[in-house]
Amino acid sequence: MRKVQLYDTTLRDGCQSEDVSLTLDDKLRVAELLDDLGVHVIEGGWPGSNPRDEEFFSASRKLKLKQARIAAFGSTKRAGVKAADDRNLQLCVKAGVPVITIVGKTWDMHVKEDLRIPLKANLEVIADSIAYLKKHADEVVFDAEHFFDGWAANPEYAIDCLAAAADAGADVLCLCDTRGGSLPAAVEAAVDAVRAARPDARLGIHCHNDCELAVANSIAAVEHGCTQVQGTINGFGERCGNANLVSIVPILQLKRGYGCVTPAQLRKLGTVSRTVYELANLEPNKRQAFVGQSAFAHKGGLHVAAVQKKAETYEHIDPALVGNAQRVLVSDLAGRSNLLAKAAEFGIDLSSDGPVVRELLREVKELEAQGYAFEGADGSFELLMRKALDGERAEFFHLIGFRVIDEKRHLDEAPLAEATIQLEGPDGRVEHTAAQGNGPIHALDQALRKALAQWYPEVEEIQLHDYKVRVLGSAEGTAALVRVLIESGDAERRWTTVGVSHDVIEASWRALVDSVDYKLHRARRPGVGRRRHAVAPRG
Ligand SMILES: [Zn+2]
Repeated sequence: MRKVQLYDTTLRDGCQSEDVSLTLDDKLRVAELLDDLGVHVIEGGWPGSNPRDEEFFSASRKLKLKQARIAAFGSTKRAGVKAADDRNLQLCVKAGVPVITIVGKTWDMHVKEDLRIPLKANLEVIADSIAYLKKHADEVVFDAEHFFDGWAANPEYAIDCLAAAADAGADVLCLCDTRGGSLPAAVEAAVDAVRAARPDARLGIHCHNDCELAVANSIAAVEHGCTQVQGTINGFGERCGNANLVSIVPILQLKRGYGCVTPAQLRKLGTVSRTVYELANLEPNKRQAFVGQSAFAHKGGLHVAAVQKKAETYEHIDPALVGNAQRVLVSDLAGRSNLLAKAAEFGIDLSSDGPVVRELLREVKELEAQGYAFEGADGSFELLMRKALDGERAEFFHLIGFRVIDEKRHLDEAPLAEATIQLEGPDGRVEHTAAQGNGPIHALDQALRKALAQWYPEVEEIQLHDYKVRVLGSAEGTAALVRVLIESGDAERRWTTVGVSHDVIEASWRALVDSVDYKLHRARRPGVGRRRHAVAPRG
């Protein structure tokens, strides 16, 4: 089987997308997801341009990655400086990772107008940079910037640049359509020309999506001999984005027979795509090929009737192969297979037609109609499953009420937040506590834990890692809904919970309660050490 190496640059090129910004923790989580998905190289950032990227490289050493190798990104040295003295190259080496990728000029116009050095001097810049990096990294990738434009303008010079990199020891020559303006036929012709000139070189492809052709150009390049594909999850990236690996991988694998990842890894594609959207605090693209919610949704009567007889009539692949599911929008069955797939992910076995499944399906649909989304909230979803399996809604505590005060006394003073909570514990005693915090949600969290610690000391182990708020569009001119995602963790694991309300404090409260509940469900077997309540506060 023809193998293709997947090179992900979500953490570098993807973060150059105007609305994408990931924290260090988010980046580490993305790296783990990519590793799980089977990505071979993860470009972590540009240590010379961004101090946050330097932190990523040192933190990434603690990740237990299964096969992925981390790459640092930089650019060729400045002309007139020795490679060993170039700060940007030194920082790439200092990142201490096995792969280093550097971008260099291959378009004569850029050399003349941007670098303003003789064409020959640029060849020396490339060769010296690569030769220096080869002494410090297992693998060096040369990103040939604007290669296709350069090849169109001055093919001989563009290939001389690649030759300089290859002769200096570059392991991969990655051809970049940096402006995203090339069409598939031009990409194919250029790749053919490079292969004719350097038949032994390992070639890569890096496309941008300015003509909505980044995926098509990447596929064309692979068919013509590139064996490394660079791209990002969901096509995040500068301007119109990068080539979308979430589409490239299933096309190469399912339609063209290339080996990229295992079938089990391919089934994680949907989850990885959605989780990356959630971490970036962006609404997933419903119409995204392969993984979008609508990618296998059938609404038209004719279509529905046909897919119920035979799915292939209106589905180009089996959606399960990429972790998606058929949705029949007019049928009672909608969502059930989806739910079963999610339940299986959590190791919870739901028989396909039991009353538990029906009840759970009803509840999930109802909550989704209220604005809940469980894709990025594995903690809340698992909790929902566990509670359904318990047979009755069980609680570790019962909320009576809470109050939050946020006070700003002077313009030049920080506001002061205080929360009071009244709740009933497992032994029926009522606890009434107050706590301050550096914001209303923090105060609420502090008060909740203070109230619960006497019965459940393990709540002190919970740490809040992230808090995200998204305003959902208002349906009929009413106030818009707010969805809150809270990421919590303890020494062993992390979990994300969700809350929805018209009121941001209440939405946060629901996500907080789920977070604590999740921890308690994990720590204590159902039915032990607590009394059951029939009332559920959510919804
Ligand atoms: Zn790029």
